[in-house]
Amino acid sequence: MRDEALTINGEAMRTADRFAVINPGDGSIAGYASNAGRAELDRAVAAARDAFPGWSRKPDEELRAACTAVAGQINDNTEELARLVTLEQGKPLNGPGSRWEIGAAAAWAEHTAGLALPPRVLQDDDDGRVELYRRPLGVVGSITPWNFPVLIAVWHMLPALRTGNTVVIKPSPYTPLATTRLVELMNEVLPAGVVNIVTGDDGMDSLGAAMSAHAGIRKIVFTGSCATGKAVMRSAAETMKRLTLELGGNDAGIVLPDADPGAIAEDLFWGAFINNGQTCAAMKRLYVHDSIHDDVCDALVEVARNVPVGPGLDEGSILGPIQNRMQFDKVKRLVEDAGSRGRVLLGGAPGDGLFFPPTIVSGLANGDPLVDEEQFGPVLPVIRYSEVEDAVAAANDSPNGLGGSLWSADVESARRMALRLECGSVWINKHGAIQPNAPFGGVKQSGLGVEFGEEGLAEYTDIQVVLS
Ligand code: NAD
Repeated sequence: MRDEALTINGEAMRTADRFAVINPGDGSIAGYASNAGRAELDRAVAAARDAFPGWSRKPDEELRAACTAVAGQINDNTEELARLVTLEQGKPLNGPGSRWEIGAAAAWAEHTAGLALPPRVLQDDDDGRVELYRRPLGVVGSITPWNFPVLIAVWHMLPALRTGNTVVIKPSPYTPLATTRLVELMNEVLPAGVVNIVTGDDGMDSLGAAMSAHAGIRKIVFTGSCATGKAVMRSAAETMKRLTLELGGNDAGIVLPDADPGAIAEDLFWGAFINNGQTCAAMKRLYVHDSIHDDVCDALVEVARNVPVGPGLDEGSILGPIQNRMQFDKVKRLVEDAGSRGRVLLGGAPGDGLFFPPTIVSGLANGDPLVDEEQFGPVLPVIRYSEVEDAVAAANDSPNGLGGSLWSADVESARRMALRLECGSVWINKHGAIQPNAPFGGVKQSGLGVEFGEEGLAEYTDIQVVLS
């Protein structure tokens, strides 16, 4: 069984106290992680600060090569990392599960290595020369959630490193094992202190809160819930930290009257149920035109009923359990409530342990909790509409604005309609398909800033202008 140490300044460090990590597939103990407190956090921040001058002054080519080496480490250890993710997170090895997650993490690291923010000359004439530089910030604090523990850690850390920052990362207490191993592997190819990890159980003294307020950290990149994101923003104010906040979403999909139900059903399903719906940019509510509503429901149910649900380590499973009890209870409450007003077309009743079958509910509307709240689980409400204008208004009627999708045979007019959705990404005939060259982030209360691409890279820098 794994008993993970912290990595601080390139060295393994054990705390006197440790906490158990639960395997959501069967409730057993998946491993133990170190229960760090303020003292360990201070040491990690000090190590990252000490490493910063040497790291930030490296030639750009060396930073690029180091990020490529990290991608290589992930690639070379795919199976070990994937099994750890499955053990602690629950998602299956197969399908869009943990092997997919580690493969994507390696691809993202590789892509990020290839990005660059070269200096720009804004003016060069008889009146003078103006040069714009992107300068690294210092120590970046990364706080990650439990849904994609390795992929999101890579999304946070690689752009920080690529731009010359050093890192202290804190994974979710539900899923610290794979991230701890990832940081160990990174330390095999990076100088000591460049990447450090602290883990803690979010007990009396939240490490995340301490990081957000820490004077030695210059930026927080946070992925998680809206409520915690707002707490991070509040405590970051005192030190004027830079922030990237990737928060919750309640993404809407709109199926337009000209869509072909049979042709889109599988992509609709995975747009909503990837990672059991525990995905920020999953489709959380689906508006379907009256003329094809029943056909879309039938086609979706047909896809959903054939997806194998089971323990993640079984090679035959494609969806696994819900990750933790709190999330499971939320899904159960929302489905029970929805069942009293809507029609449960598939699923609806919890299985053993933390298993919950793919569930599809029709007959609901905005104002129903399952439509208004982010369920973050394997359940999709399907909402009937008759006027496209009403569907757009209902989709926009949310404090969140992460993603949205339009489903139509007429891609050109869907592209035009996309600009009317209040969200950071709009997909056409797919949902949640993020990619490393497309900036991704939320509008409204879904966050601040973007990740990916040069725009995402720039968030790990301050602008410095030299005028002569
Ligand atoms: P969460 O907010 O409960 O926890 C996220 C992280 O914050 C964890 O590491 C946690 O330990 C830490 N934390 C707890 N208290 C803190 C505090 N006071 N200050 C700073 N950090 C603190 O979120 P979760 O339940 O792990 O993740 C689910 C949520 O994340 C969902 O709302 C989902 O939509 C969102 N999410 C968003 C994206 C995105 O890119 N927008 C991606 C994945 C998940």
